[in-house]
Amino acid sequence: MQTVGVIGAGQMGTGIAQTVAQHGMKVLLADLDLAHAEAGKDKIDQALTKLVGRGKLEADQAEAILARVTPVANYAPMADAGLIIEAATEREEIKKSIFEAVGKVLAGDAVMASNTSSIPITRMANYSPDPQRFIGLHFFNPVPVMGLIEVIPGLATLQETTDRITAFAEGLGKQVVLSQDEPGFVVNRILLPMINEAIFVLGQSTANIEDIDKGCRLGLNHPMGPLELADFVGLDTCFEIIKVLYATTGDSKYRPAPLLVKYVEAGWLGRKTGRGFYDYTGEAPVPTR
Ligand code: NAD
Repeated sequence: MQTVGVIGAGQMGTGIAQTVAQHGMKVLLADLDLAHAEAGKDKIDQALTKLVGRGKLEADQAEAILARVTPVANYAPMADAGLIIEAATEREEIKKSIFEAVGKVLAGDAVMASNTSSIPITRMANYSPDPQRFIGLHFFNPVPVMGLIEVIPGLATLQETTDRITAFAEGLGKQVVLSQDEPGFVVNRILLPMINEAIFVLGQSTANIEDIDKGCRLGLNHPMGPLELADFVGLDTCFEIIKVLYATTGDSKYRPAPLLVKYVEAGWLGRKTGRGFYDYTGEAPVPTR
C-alpha cells in the first residue's frame, strides 16, 4: 500500500496520516474542503516539530514525513490509493455520503476502511462499492503513541481483506485485536459505559470532577481518570458512541448520562474546543465544576 487515502483531518485523521507517513507511505488527506485538509497537515507539522524539539526525530526526517502528506480538495486523486481510511465525524449519514462519493474512484483491488468507534461495519459496508473489501480499522488516540488497533471484519468482508489489513496495521508497529462486528467492538464496549457512569456520578454530585478522576487513577491504577479521558476523546464522540450502543442493543444500561447531553448541547466538547469537564485555555487544565 504505497498510497493511503485518509478522509477526515481531525484528531484521528491527522494522527493516522502522520503514522502512515512515518512508515514510509504516501498519504492523501481529505476533509470537508482543501482548507480543512491543509489545516490537518499543519497539525501534523506541529506534532512532528514537537518530536524534533524533544530529540525523538531528526529535522530532515520530519521534513521527509511531512512531504509524504498531500492535502487534497476532492477524492479523484484517491484512485491511486491501495487503502482508503475514513476518519470523519462519528455520524452515520456523514460516513455514508463519504463512502458513496469515494466509492466512485476506489481502485478495483483497493480496500476501504472505517475508523468508526461504534457504527456497525456490516451496515456501512453496503454504502461502499464492494462490501467484501470493506473493514473496520479502529485506531486509538493519540494514534502515533497508542500501540493498539482493532480490526473488525463485517459479515461480507473477505478473509483476504482481513489479512491484508492486519498486515498493514502490524506494519505500522501496532498490535492487533480482532473483533466481531458487535456494538462498540471490544474496547469501547467496555470503556464507554465507564465514562458514561462517571458522568452520572458527577451529575448526581456524588463527587467532584477532580475526585472522580483521582479515584479512578489511584483506585484502579488507570493512567487517566474517565472525565479527563472523555475530554480527550471528545464529548461529541463519546455521546455518539453511547447512543449507538443504546440504539443497537436497546439496553437501558447504555442510556446517555443527561449531563453528557448538556455538555454536548453547550458545545463543550473537551480538549478540541478548549472546554469540557476541564478548561484547557490556561497553562494547566482546571476542573469546571
Ligand atoms: P474530529 O471531530 O477531531 O474530526 C472529524 C473530522 O471529520 C473533522 O476534521 C471534520 O471536518 C471532518 N468531516 C466532517 N464531515 C466530513 C465530510 N463530509 N467529509 C470529510 N470530512 C468530514 O473527530 P475524531 O476524534 O478525529 O473522530 C473521527 C472518527 O474517529 C470518528 O468516527 C470517531 O468515532 C473515531 N475515533 C475517535 C477516537 C477518539 O479518541 N477521538 C478514537 C478512535 C476512533
